[in-house]
Amino acid sequence: MSKRVELLDHGYLRLVDCWGREELEDAVGEESIVAAARMSTGKGFLGWGIEETCTTCDGSGTGEKSRGFGPGSLCPDCQGRKCRINKPGDEKLLRYLWENKHATPFEMAGVTIEVAAPIFVFREWHRHRVPFSYNEMSSRYVPLPDLSFVPDPEDSVKRSIAASQRNKQAGVIEGAAVLTLEAAHDLLGEEHELLRKIEDLYQRKLRAGFPKELARTHLSVSRYSKMRASANLRGWLAFIALRSASGAQQEIRVYSDALRGILAELFPRTLNLFSEKR
Ligand SMILES: Cc1cc2nc3c(=O)[nH]c(=O)nc-3n(C[C@H](O)[C@H](O)[C@H](O)COP(=O)(O)OP(=O)(O)OC[C@H]3O[C@@H](n4cnc5c(N)ncnc54)[C@H](O)[C@@H]3O)c2cc1C
Repeated sequence: MSKRVELLDHGYLRLVDCWGREELEDAVGEESIVAAARMSTGKGFLGWGIEETCTTCDGSGTGEKSRGFGPGSLCPDCQGRKCRINKPGDEKLLRYLWENKHATPFEMAGVTIEVAAPIFVFREWHRHRVPFSYNEMSSRYVPLPDLSFVPDPEDSVKRSIAASQRNKQAGVIEGAAVLTLEAAHDLLGEEHELLRKIEDLYQRKLRAGFPKELARTHLSVSRYSKMRASANLRGWLAFIALRSASGAQQEIRVYSDALRGILAELFPRTLNLFSEKR
């Protein structure tokens, strides 16, 4: 499992802890959800279905003419997954829970992650309150590292064009020029220069004896900070539903997408159910 993902220009997301596993062979993290739901009958987790090579397509995932579906088309039985569950197990209960919004068992699993991201990303992230726990590094106690997010010129132009076409609130201001690559390079070059001046002033304030809590007052929200964030699976799925959506800002979406990838490795069946509905 990839436990650390590098993101943006200086950020990362790292898995710190995961819970929801029963001490079972091949446990991947979802057994506790089923076991919690079964408290009502006292039966516990009974086991996942047995996955076998799909006999309809002989594990190719796609068809052959002789089988009645073309070479390029997906196998109607396994839908291209090349295998299928021949003896249904607790996937059935997991699906029932998910589809009927029996949500509390999904609170029995979860993850803690560590994230380095620009402060403006944390501003959005910290709006997610239930059931999240956060601890962030404090620039009252340690100077912030000299790392700031600066947009990429090509990406800025691409997003400017897309935003003006969509005419969304999150786009360009009324009467704005068409952003050219040259203008983006010039302005972002100025931004790099400004960030150097900001850092220089920060270091001079620190050396002059300003307490760290006052030396930081001119720093921008593009500065990187670090935090740990912890939540149960239900909470993370609510976060991903909002922050991996197309309307979310790209700079938080990349973190949400990376987390989604990690959760898909830890809780594959639940993430499949989550994706089916989207
Ligand atoms: C694309 C996008 C744009 C946004 N734009 C803005 C913006 O312009 N300005 C802005 O201020 N915010 C903005 N937000 C933040 C948004 O308003 C929410 O604060 C954020 O998405 C967290 O969602 P939440 O409240 O569901 O999360 P949480 O606070 O974690 O709550 C989770 C769930 O718990 C329940 N809950 C929590 N608190 C209460 C409560 N007090 N009463 C009843 N039920 C509760 C609700 O069911 C809620 O969905 C934006 C979010 C997105 C995704």
